[in-house]
Amino acid sequence: MTITARKMIAVALLGAALAGCGSDPASAPRHSADRPSPSAPQGEGAPKTASAPTLAPGPGSLTPVFKRAPENPRGEKVVALTFDADMTADQGPRAAGGEHFDNPGLIADLRRMKVPATVFMTGRWAEEYPAEARAIGTDPAFEVGNHSYSHYAFKSDCYGLPVVHKDAVLADVEKASAQFKKAGVTNAVPYFRFPGGCYDDEVLRTLAPLKMTAVQWDVVSGDAFATDANAVAEQVLAGVRPGSLVVMHCTRSAAPVTDTALQRIVPELRKRGYRFVKVSDLIRGAAQH
Ligand SMILES: [Zn+2]
Repeated sequence: MTITARKMIAVALLGAALAGCGSDPASAPRHSADRPSPSAPQGEGAPKTASAPTLAPGPGSLTPVFKRAPENPRGEKVVALTFDADMTADQGPRAAGGEHFDNPGLIADLRRMKVPATVFMTGRWAEEYPAEARAIGTDPAFEVGNHSYSHYAFKSDCYGLPVVHKDAVLADVEKASAQFKKAGVTNAVPYFRFPGGCYDDEVLRTLAPLKMTAVQWDVVSGDAFATDANAVAEQVLAGVRPGSLVVMHCTRSAAPVTDTALQRIVPELRKRGYRFVKVSDLIRGAAQH
C-alpha cells in the first residue's frame, strides 16, 4: 500500500472520527449524571482502583457519561488534559513497518512540566508498547483509562471505523483491561472512552455491568493529523473554561504536533490561573460541591 493510500485510510478511520465528534452537538451526552457517587461499587470487569470515583448510573441504570466538571461555586480553575493512546487492532503491520503509534517525547514533556494527565489507552497499544504502558501505568502523575482493545466503533456509523459486534463489546473492553494488567499497569481507573466518541443508549446499557464511567470531553484540541501546532494551541486556549476536559492524542502517527502545542498550552493556562488535574480529580472535585 502506498503512503498516500495508507494515510487516507488512517484519516478516514481516525482523523475524521476524532476531530469531528466533539464538535457535533448531537453527540452531547443525554445521560450525564450531575452528581458523582464516590462510593459507587465497582463491577467485576472494572479495574480495582478504590480511590478513583465513578458517577452514579444514569437514567435506566445506563453507564453514566462525564463530559466536564459542573460550574464550581468557588471558581476554582482546574482543567484535565486527556491523551488517547490510539492503535487499532489491525495496525500491527504498520507498527512493524516502523510507524510510531506511541509518543514518548510527549510523556516526557508532561513529566518535565509536571502536568498530571489521564491517558486513555487501547489494549492494542499496551500490547505493542508494554514498557511504555507500564511506565505511564505506574507513574502517580498519570492514570490509565480504557479506550477499548481494538479501537473499533461501539456504534454503527462512526466516521467509517469498523464496528465491534454488540455481543463482543464487553469482551473488547475486558481484553484491554487484561492487556493493561499484563503490561504491569497499576493506576488503571474505571473510566472508558468510546472510540471516535460514538455511543448510544444500547451500548451504554451493554457496558453497565462493568460499572465504568464513560468519559467524553468539552474541548476538542483538533490535534488529530494537525500540522500547525499553533492552531491546536489556539483552539485549546479558546475552548478551556474552569472544569474543562480536553481531548488530545499521544501517538506520533496520528498527532505529530501535540507536544509542540503543549509547550504553549501549559504555560499559558498556568498564566491564566489554571491548575492541571486528572479526570479522577475532576470527578472527585465535582462530588464535593
Ligand atoms: Zn481514539
